[in-house]
Amino acid sequence: MTQLDPNWQSDALDPTLGFLEQTLAVRGGYHRTDEGEHSEAIFTTSSYVYASAADAADHFNGNKKGNVYSRHTNPTVRAFERRLALLEGGERCVATASGMGAILTMCLAYLKAGDHLLCAKQLFGSSVALFDTYFKPLGIEVSYVDCFDNAAWQAAIQPNTRVLYCESPSNPLAQIADLAFLSNLAHTNDALLIVDNCFATPAIQKPLQLGADVVIHSASKYIDGQGRVLGGALVGSDELMEKAFTVVRTGGISLSPFNAWALLKGLETLSLRMKAHCENANQVASFLAKHPKVQKVHFSGLADHPSHEVAKRQHTALKNVAGGEITGAFGAIVGFEVADQKSAWHVIDSTKVISITNNLGDAKSTITHPATTTHFRMTPEQRVEAGVNDGLIRLSVGLEDVADIIADLARGLDSL
Ligand SMILES: *Cc1c(COP(=O)(O)O)cnc(C)c1O
Repeated sequence: MTQLDPNWQSDALDPTLGFLEQTLAVRGGYHRTDEGEHSEAIFTTSSYVYASAADAADHFNGNKKGNVYSRHTNPTVRAFERRLALLEGGERCVATASGMGAILTMCLAYLKAGDHLLCAKQLFGSSVALFDTYFKPLGIEVSYVDCFDNAAWQAAIQPNTRVLYCESPSNPLAQIADLAFLSNLAHTNDALLIVDNCFATPAIQKPLQLGADVVIHSASKYIDGQGRVLGGALVGSDELMEKAFTVVRTGGISLSPFNAWALLKGLETLSLRMKAHCENANQVASFLAKHPKVQKVHFSGLADHPSHEVAKRQHTALKNVAGGEITGAFGAIVGFEVADQKSAWHVIDSTKVISITNNLGDAKSTITHPATTTHFRMTPEQRVEAGVNDGLIRLSVGLEDVADIIADLARGLDSL
């Protein structure tokens, strides 16, 4: 049971009661207006009206709390922020225009010249580009270690390390970072642990409960869940979120009210969708693991995956639709290797259901060849370092009937 801040309730909920998570996902964070709307309203307004000149002055000088301008706050954006904060178990959430906007905000809010940012090697490509291209020249030191290698993290800590940053599971090999270990390591070294929780979502992993200080989201993936809008968010303590909020408001990295509304509705079904995604992914991974033309499957749900035990420990179990526990919640991104690029392209081009696109976290399954798309800009050496072989295929397992997804993959694999 989660006890709620009364100001964060839907007015349909009695604030003196605690509510379970799925109730918060459907109803948390929104204040119904006097119009009595049942579905949340979209406030498409850039500014707000005051009762008098004195009232306006009070809003600007901070004597009164309230909306001033939608680059700062907007009621629809706030509802999304409150609902996501409830699901992640954080005091406050700050929404951003995209996932990259959240990562940019993180750098500007928590790092300054002379600081060291210690990152996992296994990161979304644009995150690496942002750090290396824009923050290194500003005097922020950046270095990278394997996300699953606790000893490497420990050895790379410097006196000026202020932020440890990782994704777990990572893209595209679904590698797992030990978040409880990393939060201890960060805190004994006066640093923050910041976790991009995009692949797991709060439905299967709550980094703040494992000791992380800030959770980052690209809401464009599973939180939207249908590939419609871009959005991002940071979640954490009031103090850390106030720093992020100042950056977003001043830098104009704000989320649009329409996108906030789509994401707010996405949260209502997030955990149900994640259950179905994870169940389908478990079955697809077992099929791939048994196929003679598949050389390797990267999926932490498989018992022989090196991070299987850590993933089991830090991913919350999900109940399946019938109420029983599903085999495990390991996310729904599955990487697998065939012999070479020619074979990989053959498997991809043989699909008739799965979309050939680099987006992920969609109801529609998607398939991509990282070496020639998402990781194309890396040098061959960097690709080897990142474990992106020419035969690697990344699959985002969607919500279609799993038998059709498996048949779609079998078409290409059986004819290799
Ligand atoms: C897509 C993605 C991002 C960037 O998010 P955008 O919303 O596209 O800006 C960041 N991290 C991960 C893990 C992602 O998959």
